[in-house]
This record gives sequence, C-alpha cells and structure tokens, in this order.
Amino acid sequence: MAEKRKLLQRYMQCLNEMQDELRRKELAKKMETLEKLQCELARRQEQRVAQGGGQMGKSERRQYLKDKLKSYQKTLKGLLCELARREAFANGERGRVSESDNLPHPLKLDEFTVAFRYVGEDGRELLMAALAARRCAYVPYSKFKVGAAFRAKCGQIYSGCNIENAAFTPGNCAERCALAKGVSEGEKRYTAGAVVAYHPDGFTTPCGVCRQFIREFATRDFPIYIAKAPPPEQEGCIPAIDDDEEVLVTSAYNLLPHSFSAYE
Ligand SMILES: [Zn+2]
Repeated sequence: MAEKRKLLQRYMQCLNEMQDELRRKELAKKMETLEKLQCELARRQEQRVAQGGGQMGKSERRQYLKDKLKSYQKTLKGLLCELARREAFANGERGRVSESDNLPHPLKLDEFTVAFRYVGEDGRELLMAALAARRCAYVPYSKFKVGAAFRAKCGQIYSGCNIENAAFTPGNCAERCALAKGVSEGEKRYTAGAVVAYHPDGFTTPCGVCRQFIREFATRDFPIYIAKAPPPEQEGCIPAIDDDEEVLVTSAYNLLPHSFSAYE
C-alpha cells in the first residue's frame, strides 16, 4: 500500500513538472510574439517618418513624431497589460479561477484600448457571446441593441440582451439580464465581462445602475471588454468584429471606483 502511494506521488510530481514546462514554453512564445510586434511598430514608425518627413517643417515633424510615439506607447502598454493578463491566466493553478489573480496590482486593473486581434482568447469569446445575445435584444422603442456576457468562476458564460417595455421603467439592461441569469443558476462570482453595442461616436459602457449591479458580484476586480458592434447596415457580416477594431478593456473597479459595497 505504502509503495503504491509512493508510486502515485512520483507520478503526480512528474505530471506537475511537465505542466510547468508547458507553461514556460507557452510564455516564451508569447514574449517572442510581443518582441516581433515591437520591432514591427518601430519599423512602421520609421517608414512613416521617411514618407511624410519631406513635406513637413521642423516643428511639425517634431509634433508628428511625438503623436506617433504617444500612440505606440499606448498600444504597447495595452499589449503589456494583455500579456500580463494572459500570463496570469497561464499561471492559474485551477484554470479559469480569476483573470486578475497574480497581476502586479491585483486590486485594480489598468484601463486601456487594444485592437480586437490582441485581446486574449477568453476576452474574444466573451465579446462574441455578448454579440450573439445582442441579436435577441427586444428594443421596439429605442432600437438601441445591447449585448452583454459574464464568465462565472466555474468558466460558464452567461449572456443577456436589453429588454424594453411599453411602460418604460420595467425595461432591463443587457448586463443585468446576463448576471441575473447566472445568479439564478447559483453563480455569484465572476471573472470577466463584455458589453457590445453600436454607437457611431464610441464605446457604449454600462449605465450607473448596471455598474453598481456588477460591483455587487465583483469580490475582486475583473476585466470588462467593451467593443463596438457592427453598424446596422453591416449586421450579419463576417467577421462580426474586425481584427483592427479597438476594444476598451476596463474593469469592474474602474467603472465604479467609489461604489457602495457593504453595510459594515
Ligand atoms: Zn444598465
């Protein structure tokens, strides 16, 4: 019996070592991709300066370079944040426990924008679930369709759409619809969320009531991905979200920093 236990322990140890090795390889691959992207950004920057430099005055060129540098820094910051998220995810001992675990500042995540192609697989999956739910939106009055999706701690995704009412006040938002579905199934902890709607001027973020509602189930800060749905004339087109489309990656705490959280 003791020998069998020893053998089992040795097997478990081997298994753990193999898993560690796999994670290390995965991270090294991601770092390599990031370095390639940095090189590509630098190359493009040089190319643009070479193209536009001839017609610009000295101060104009300086401003142009400053603006470009700022935008690249923003992209790079977004990529680094996304990498930190993915690293944390890869390091998660129990799989999809929390996308914010192991981050340098676990209490509050950074807010940034990043192209859809650079959003992690999990974020993209949530955005697509929100987009699918948005198709069911019941909006005969405003015609403003919203979709939302939240991932529960167990990994299950709950999605919802906005539902209007002729009497107006009984209407419900997509975020609360999605969370209510999860909570009514016994899920009280969530690790990420996504909201999708179309407004020509920019991102559609959750309303005040929904922010407080989300905060109720955010025992830790978690990322919330916000993307623009395709314009009405392009609905149903593939891909539903273009790879270059900007995604706002914010968080439950960022959306409502001074929230009401408990009586005690
Ligand atoms: Zn709302």
